[in-house]
Order: sequence, then structure tokens, then C-alpha cells
Amino acid sequence: MLDAAFFHRWMTVAAAWVERDAQHLTALDSPIGDADHGSNMLRGFKAVVSALQEEHPDTPGAVLMLAGRRLVSTVGGASGPLYGTLLRRVGKALGDAATVDRAALAGALHTGVNAVASLGGAAPGDKTMLDALLPAADGLDTSFEAARAAAEQGALATTPLQARKGRASYLGERSIGHQDPGATSSALLIAALAEVAEEADGTDGTGGQGASGE
Ligand code: ADP
Ligand code: MG
Repeated sequence: MLDAAFFHRWMTVAAAWVERDAQHLTALDSPIGDADHGSNMLRGFKAVVSALQEEHPDTPGAVLMLAGRRLVSTVGGASGPLYGTLLRRVGKALGDAATVDRAALAGALHTGVNAVASLGGAAPGDKTMLDALLPAADGLDTSFEAARAAAEQGALATTPLQARKGRASYLGERSIGHQDPGATSSALLIAALAEVAEEADGTDGTGGQGASGE
């Protein structure tokens, strides 16, 4: 089962990986955006980690709702409200349970991803973060590893697409041939989730039947 510490750890690993990849995310956002995606994500996730350390939310839902609120309040770009909505809605869907299993998280992720789609008005294939998040939610119905692989595939598959939402859409056909920065950071967040699930499987003494719930 996944407790508040698991979700706190997810956000901590995500923040570390955002820091590691910030330059790459910003480089992806230069040809088809305004070269700030890495710095937006870095500012947001640093604030998330500080907030979690200060406030110690004690349920999975409370961890993600706090993280989402912090992203909204610290990230100015399109991605702040979108990721903020994602985490707040996933957290809200998890309710006030002390622990949740992977299936419940998958259900909550579907809810959160749908909220991102209604807020941003994007559909699959529009070359946005949804192209990684939608397959990730479907993958998580099966396993953390399937979610990670599907998000990664989804991010890579944005390269040949023409952007139809966000700043990249202003470029029309010139947006083709570049991987979407938001889909790339979404794949990073899902990879961090899978990493933390794998760690938990190795350490909770259930012989690999812990976090994955399988
Ligand atoms: P900004 O575009 O304001 O500079 P960022 O650079 O931080 O914000 O984030 C850009 C990313 O946000 C894009 O790569 C895309 O994945 C995502 N994005 C932008 N608009 C939308 C939207 N309407 N729906 C979903 N995702 C979007
Ligand atoms: Mg940008």
C-alpha cells in the first residue's frame, strides 16, 4: 500500500530529476516555445519540496493537493496551472485515505488527466503533456512499469506531431520535428513514480508485492 511517505518521496525524486534535466527541458522549449520550461518546473518543484517539509501532510491525498497548490502559486507558465490541476485533482480523488493501492491511484490519475484536458482544451495528438499523461494513466491500470514505458513512448511520439495547443501551436507546421517539453516533463514525473514504487517494493519486506500491488 502507498502511504503519505511514498507520495512525499515521489515529489522529492521528481524534484531531483527536474533539477537534473532542467537544461534539457528548457532546450526542448526553445525551438517551439519560450525556453522557460526547465526553469518553470525547477521553481515549482523546489517550492513543492519546501512546502512538504514544512507542512508534513499525512495522507496521500493531502500530499498531492499541497503539491498542486504550490505548483499553481509558483509557476507562471501554462504548465503551472496544468500540473497544479493534475496533482490537486489526483489528490482530491484519493480522498482522506491513509493508504491507497495502485489501482486507486490509477483511477485518480485518470480523473486528474481528464481535468487537465478540460482546463487546457487539448486532445490526444495535439502535442502536449496529455500525449504522455493519457497513456500513463492507461498504463498504470496494469503496473507502474507499464505507466513509465507508455509515458516515455508518448513523449517521444510527440516529435512528428504539429502542435495544436499552447505556444508551440503559434508555429504551425514549424512545430513538427521537435519533442514537446511538457510531454517530456510528464514522462519524467511518471518515471519518478515508477522509480519510487520499485524502491518501495525492494524495502517493504513484502518480497516485491508491496507498492506495485501485484
Ligand atoms: P509556457 O508555454 O507558458 O511557456 P511551459 O513552457 O512551462 O509554459 O510549458 C509548456 C508545455 O505546456 C508545453 O510543452 C505543453 O506540453 C504544455 N501545454 C501548453 N498548453 C497546453 C494545453 N492547452 N493543454 C495541455 N498542455 C499544454
Ligand atoms: Mg515555455
